[in-house]
Amino acid sequence: MTSSPVRQFQTPRGTRDLLPEDYSVHAHILSHAREQARLAGFGFIEPPTFEQAELFARGVGEGTDIVEKEMYIFEDRGGDRLALRPEGTASVCRAYLQHGMANLSQPVKLAYHLPIFRYERPQAGRFRQHTQFGVEAIGVRDAGLDAEVIDLGWRVAESLGLTDLKILLNSIGDIEDRRAYVPLLKAHFEPHLDRIAPDDQARWDRAPMRLLDSKDDRTKPFQTGAPIITDHLRPESAAYYDSVKSHLEALGIPYEERPTLVRGLDYYTHTVFEIVPAHADGSQVTVLAGGRYDGLIEQIGGPPTPGIGFGMGLERMAHHLREQDLAPDEQSTTDVLIAALGEGADVAASRIAGDLRRRGVAATLAFGGRSLKAQLRQANRSGARFAVIAGARDLADGNVTIRDLQTSDQRQVAVGDIVSELAGLATGREYTQPQD
Ligand code: ATP
Ligand code: MG
Repeated sequence: MTSSPVRQFQTPRGTRDLLPEDYSVHAHILSHAREQARLAGFGFIEPPTFEQAELFARGVGEGTDIVEKEMYIFEDRGGDRLALRPEGTASVCRAYLQHGMANLSQPVKLAYHLPIFRYERPQAGRFRQHTQFGVEAIGVRDAGLDAEVIDLGWRVAESLGLTDLKILLNSIGDIEDRRAYVPLLKAHFEPHLDRIAPDDQARWDRAPMRLLDSKDDRTKPFQTGAPIITDHLRPESAAYYDSVKSHLEALGIPYEERPTLVRGLDYYTHTVFEIVPAHADGSQVTVLAGGRYDGLIEQIGGPPTPGIGFGMGLERMAHHLREQDLAPDEQSTTDVLIAALGEGADVAASRIAGDLRRRGVAATLAFGGRSLKAQLRQANRSGARFAVIAGARDLADGNVTIRDLQTSDQRQVAVGDIVSELAGLATGREYTQPQD
């Protein structure tokens, strides 16, 4: 009888492991993003990873790609129809309603860092699970707030050292504005319907503004000369857009108006924006995107409540930082490597490691009972600054050797003095062991 080979498991298509070298770049981006959000007065929120599927169907919109084609929907054992979150805004708005945040002083400003799930066609910069850092400012409709949110996104990029990005800005008006504009837009594409991409043909009727956003080469030629929404805004909508621009100018935030910029979700109104590399083109380069969504909360069952926010793709931002050579150097994982030699030395080495860690010094043991040479090679590779060599013979006299791995100087110290000798390396927070 032949046994079947053991299966090699792989990450599901479109997903990937975040390895330590990737994780450190994500952590770097997040620490900057969190700090900028804190400085702008945002609190932090984390909704559950799955919600009632209906929330997204209503919030994001039935006709959107996200809801129609990309949601991971499942029925749980109790028969509830749930979905893995395909975006963050609807969840945060649901939380705003559920916790009565309308009673707090407005706007309520919330930031988050969440995995997002979309059944997309995997390609470079497009995954089935990605991570967003996002913010939402809910409860106020004020051009100054729009500018503040755009400014926050810009400062996150700036604080990471990025200088080659640009902000694309547009106003897509509201339902009233579109009543006049949409028929003109449809009329523009109508004579070409049989030549544009089939997906876009279907959009022509239910979401014609998406045709402006199409990245399909069959549709793109017909985007030229299409009427643009900003020519058809009512005076009050145009004034709001002007006010957003004046605020941005006052803040010294550069932007480029892009009258064809529309966003792929139904809920956006008025201000929409993206942050993209200044010199790259393509459909997977947007690192941050957002806009105002004054109709969303009403659509999910709340009172009319305005809001604005953005989502930043961490994978795309990490990729971009690497391309610009701005990703942080790989951190060494330890300060001190402890080599043990001879009978009983491993136990002493373990104690030394524990004592150092308690004092906030990162310490690693060279396991495996190998030669001193092999252990020191490991110490050099680990990026440690010092090696502690705990040899059985020295230990019998109460001593170990400390070797500076940069200068190769070494000296003997008493076991009891190791911690005070190396405490200067402490990066973590030390703690006192409970007395027994
Ligand atoms: P795109 O036009 O690139 O599909 P989107 O309009 O679907 O983006 P949003 O829903 O606004 O994007 O998400 C905000 C940000 O999240 C994007 O600007 C991008 O940086 C990132 N993002 C979106 N979808 C993915 C994905 N499938 N894989 C990786 N990052 C993504
Ligand atoms: Mg998309």
